[in-house]
Amino acid sequence: MDKDKLIKMAENPHLIPGIYNYCDRWCERCTFTSRCLTFLTEEEKKRESGYSPGSDEMNEEFWKGIRENFLLAMEMVRDFAEKEGIDLEVAMESEEVEAAMARWRKGVRSPMLIIAQKRRWIIISWLIIGLKERGNYGRK
Ligand code: SF4
Repeated sequence: MDKDKLIKMAENPHLIPGIYNYCDRWCERCTFTSRCLTFLTEEEKKRESGYSPGSDEMNEEFWKGIRENFLLAMEMVRDFAEKEGIDLEVAMESEEVEAAMARWRKGVRSPMLIIAQKRRWIIISWLIIGLKERGNYGRK
C-alpha cells in the first residue's frame, strides 16, 4: 500500500482515531473492525496480495508488510519534517534529542519497566504453552 492510499483511507470520518492503540489486537472478536484503520489497511493488504490466509506466501507477505510499514512511516516523518522546515539530521544532534535519549536509557533500567518486561515474557510463555497444547504452535 502506498502513502497516498493510506492517507485517503485515514481520512474516512467513520474511523475512530487511534482505537488500535487501546486494544488487544484480537480483531476476530472486535466489534469496531469497520471503524479501525489498522484492521482496514490489513484487510486491504491481504486483498492486494491475493494469497490465501496461513500460506507460506502470506507469511512472507506479513514480514514484507512490516518492512513496508517502517519505510512508509519514515517517508511520512520526512514529509512532515520537510513541511515544518525541520532538518532531521540537525534535529538528531540537538540537545533535546540527547536529553530525551538519556531519559529513555534511564527509563530502560527503571524497576517498573523491568517488572513490565518480566510480565510480558510470562504472558508470551503462557501463550506459547497454550498454543503448543492446542497443537497450533509452529504450524505454517
Ligand atoms: S479491529 Fe483489531 S486492531 Fe482494530 S481496534 Fe479492533 S482489535 Fe484493535
